[in-house]
Amino acid sequence: MKLIDTYNRHIDYLRISITDHCNFRCFYCTPFSGRNHLSKSKILSYEELLKVSEAAVSAGITKIRITGGEPLVRKGVVEFCRMLSNIKGLRSLTLTTNGLLLKEMAASLFEAGIRRINVSLDTLKPERFQKITGYNLLSNVLAGIKKAEEVGMHPIKINMVVMRGINYDEIEEMVNITFKKPYHVRFIELMPTEGWDFEHHKSLFIPLEEVMKRIGEIGKIQIEPAKNSNGPAKIYVLPGAKGILGFISPLGRHFCGACNRLRLTADGNLRPCLFSKNEIDIKRLLRDGAALETLADVFRQAAIKKPQGHNLDKIDVQRTFGRAMQGIGG
Ligand code: SAM
Ligand code: SF4
Repeated sequence: MKLIDTYNRHIDYLRISITDHCNFRCFYCTPFSGRNHLSKSKILSYEELLKVSEAAVSAGITKIRITGGEPLVRKGVVEFCRMLSNIKGLRSLTLTTNGLLLKEMAASLFEAGIRRINVSLDTLKPERFQKITGYNLLSNVLAGIKKAEEVGMHPIKINMVVMRGINYDEIEEMVNITFKKPYHVRFIELMPTEGWDFEHHKSLFIPLEEVMKRIGEIGKIQIEPAKNSNGPAKIYVLPGAKGILGFISPLGRHFCGACNRLRLTADGNLRPCLFSKNEIDIKRLLRDGAALETLADVFRQAAIKKPQGHNLDKIDVQRTFGRAMQGIGG
């Protein structure tokens, strides 16, 4: 059964934030200090997450991505992946990580059913890496990516949030990765999530058209659209490259038209749109012992409630996000 929303978009993708804890402190993700983490009783247990995932699949979800916070810091994540990968009807199970623990965990994750992975990597310079994430651990992340490739994960997607005055000058180096490796390098626009000062965001924000133009100038290469575009990412290949390039422009208009996803927050709320604080409390139903079909209905309701677009240019973004990125999962 297909899950179709009010605007005729096919909703087949669920992002699950399994924790709001993280072993990095990326300044753009946690721009304000003193935030309290959710207590253990507030976040969904793995059993609860499994039940919600089964309901999601019975409602028409075919792809699940595990995210966070940093998903690899939650104890038992490998076993959880194994349980998820056994859900009948789930076609794709992926994970987004900062890569810090990937070297140690890639083999067991692969064995538990994670065959593809996204790793956030905003810079290839160690000092910058420390400035962005708060930790001087770039080499660990690079070793994690290498290990993921060695154990057979494919594709490996590298996510770079492009920011003026922070890492804009590294675009060429990032593009060059696709000539050496079959990775997908994806450029993401900086989002003004909860806690961002509007002017500060504006000073760092780079529209991806500018990034695309710059890539078009590198070695005068022609950018060609690839065939298999899917979801809000625009996909391109460069002649002679082994990998591909993706552009994710959440502030751009096309983003919403191609949006195929729902999000489950770490504390058990189903969020139809990243940019809207309208959520459905699925945790309460779960803890009241709701049947699978009742939970599947919540996914159908969420699809109906999914707005047509975010109109970010027209609204007060900080108020509408309503929670930090780590709890939503990006
Ligand atoms: N910890 C994992 C990681 O960093 O990949 C998963 C969670 S993180 C919230 C998911 C994605 O959200 C990352 O790729 C991160 O770069 C992105 N992200 C966080 N805050 C953002 C912001 N303000 N603008 C754009 N992307 C952001
Ligand atoms: Fe942690 Fe990922 Fe947010 Fe960075 S982007 S602070 S790694 S959750």
